[in-house]
Amino acid sequence: MDNSVALDVDGLAKTYTGHGRSVEAVRELTFSIGRGEFVCIVGPSGAGKTTLLRCIAGLLDVSGGRIALDGAPVTGPPAGMAVVFQEYGRSLFPWLTVRRNIELPLKEKGLNKADRAARVAAALDAVGLTESAEAHPWQLSGGMQQRVAIARAVAYEPSVLLMDEPFAAVDAQTRADLEDLVRTLWRRLGITVLFVTHDIDESVYLGQRVLVLSNRPTVVLEDVRVDLPDERDQLQTRSSPRFAEIRTHVYELVQAAKKGHRPGGGDA
Ligand code: ADP
Ligand code: MG
Repeated sequence: MDNSVALDVDGLAKTYTGHGRSVEAVRELTFSIGRGEFVCIVGPSGAGKTTLLRCIAGLLDVSGGRIALDGAPVTGPPAGMAVVFQEYGRSLFPWLTVRRNIELPLKEKGLNKADRAARVAAALDAVGLTESAEAHPWQLSGGMQQRVAIARAVAYEPSVLLMDEPFAAVDAQTRADLEDLVRTLWRRLGITVLFVTHDIDESVYLGQRVLVLSNRPTVVLEDVRVDLPDERDQLQTRSSPRFAEIRTHVYELVQAAKKGHRPGGGDA
C-alpha cells in the first residue's frame, strides 16, 4: 500500500435503481488523492458529483469499483471525516442551538468541556457567527446556516474534509472569506480536502489539482495540476497570468464536457 495516498477511488460506478427506472450516474471514476492534498472537482450539473461524495462518505452503496481511505475499504461513514453537504439545511439539527450543533460531533469525539468550548468559540469567530451562538438554525438565513455547517466541520478538525458546493448560498464577500478560511485550515492542520464546486475560478483559486468530470455517465476528463504558489491571495492570485491560463483551460474542458466530449477523442 502507498502510505502517501489518503483516498483511492478505483473504477467507481453508481447506477440508481428503483421504481422501474435506472439512472447510470457514474460510469468509471478513477483517481487518488495524496495525504494532505487539496483537490477540487468541477463538472456539469447532474454529472454525479454529489453521488461521488456520498459514496466516499459511506452514505451510498456503490454499484462497482472500490473506494479506500487510508488503505481500508469504505463500508460506512469513516471516523475522522467531515462532510459539508450541498443541502446544508437538512444537516443541522433544528432543535439544537448553533453552539450545540457545532459541539455535538466534538462530544462524540470525546473532547472535554473546556476544549469543546474553545473549539466552538474559535469556529464561530472564524465564520463570523459569534453573535448567533444561542440562535436556532431556523432563525438564520440560508447563508448563515451554511456557515454553521462549515463551523461544525472546522471545529471537528477532520483528517479528511469533503465539501459539496458549500458556498453556493453565501454572498460574494463572505464566500471569499470562507474560501480563505478553508485554505488556512488546510495549511494549518495538513488535512486532505476534496471540494466540489461549479465555480471554475473557485476551483483554481482553492485547489492544488482540479479534476474535471465529463457529462453523465461520468468519467474523469482531465486531472489539471494547479501550479500556483501555496500562498494565495484573492486579488493577486486571481489577477495573475498563470491563474488566467489555468482557469481558461478548465473552462474549455468544462465546455467540452457539456457538449458530451469523452476522453480519448471519441465524442458521444
Ligand atoms: P451533481 O451533483 O453533479 O449535480 P448528482 O450526483 O446529484 O449530480 O446526480 C447525478 C445523476 O444521478 C443525475 O442524473 C441525478 O438525477 C441522478 N440521481 C441523483 N440522486 C438520485 C437518486 N436518489 N435516485 C435516482 N437518480 C438520482
Ligand atoms: Mg450536486
